[in-house]
Amino acid sequence: MSTHPCFLPSTLGERKEFVLLFVGKNSPFAPLLLGYIDQAVLIDTHSHLDFPDFDADRENVILRAMEAGVTRIISIGTNLQTSRAAISLAESHPDIYATVGLHPCEVEEASDSTCDELEKLAQHPKVVALGECGLDYHRLPSQSLPSFDSTSVATGGTAPGSEDHLLADAEIKNRQAIFFQEQLDLAVRLKLNMVIHQRDSWEDTLATLKPYSGRLRCVFHCFSGTPDQARQLFELGHSISFTGIATFKNARNLHESIRQTPAGSFFLETDCPYLAPEPHRGKRCEPAYTRLVAEKVAALRGKTLKEIARETTSAAEKFFRFTTLP
Ligand SMILES: [Zn+2]
Repeated sequence: MSTHPCFLPSTLGERKEFVLLFVGKNSPFAPLLLGYIDQAVLIDTHSHLDFPDFDADRENVILRAMEAGVTRIISIGTNLQTSRAAISLAESHPDIYATVGLHPCEVEEASDSTCDELEKLAQHPKVVALGECGLDYHRLPSQSLPSFDSTSVATGGTAPGSEDHLLADAEIKNRQAIFFQEQLDLAVRLKLNMVIHQRDSWEDTLATLKPYSGRLRCVFHCFSGTPDQARQLFELGHSISFTGIATFKNARNLHESIRQTPAGSFFLETDCPYLAPEPHRGKRCEPAYTRLVAEKVAALRGKTLKEIARETTSAAEKFFRFTTLP
């Protein structure tokens, strides 16, 4: 049983037990206290709390999350350094948990021993999943090479779509695929679920995952796709999670996906310090804003905040195995 700064346990069930133990089942105060306890309890299932963006006020950020009902936070690893930092945050805060993984945009810095190191880190009792890992074709190397214009030809620059660009892109895609697959194998071996990052790589990500069907469950974090894409994932036994993008007016596909996603198949997250929801769009995001995401999701699905909190918290507890953690 973990406690948050109010010295109450994190899960709703545990909180109720605690209150009943404290005041007694027959006390006239019991219904009153239980009503107070039964507030929206949320989990930020994807944050980057170890990032330097939070160095100046991390403890206050965590406190604000707890005050907003975000009683548990998962800090996500993106390489060995951030995976270690996520674990060390989890060690110093009872209600913070960690994942360890190698993000596709970090593969250039990784070495042959990275996955062995991840395997060691994954043994930590507060590591609740592997990831984030996957494929990201949004920022391939070709875009950082000199672009084609008359001066670049004169100085030996290459045209977009030229052999150099294509080779550089193919090389990085191949490296991403190798590390993705290694981490998938690791997850199967360690019986851990996975946090997937996919950007502009839908077909390849699904093709890579296909052979693992039935052996591995994943959450496609920061899902912003269509209802049809979401269905493809559910058919393979995977889940999705929604960020502050849900609050953006122009996210129409995503709004439809949020309406149609079956309860139990989705969680909430902030992906902080990125993707702050309205009305904080463009500013630093923080775990407390999970509540704003929850409110928007509740409005789109015609439910109350408490109902959405209950559904998403229970789904995340199962996926991230909070129930079986020490
Ligand atoms: Zn992330």
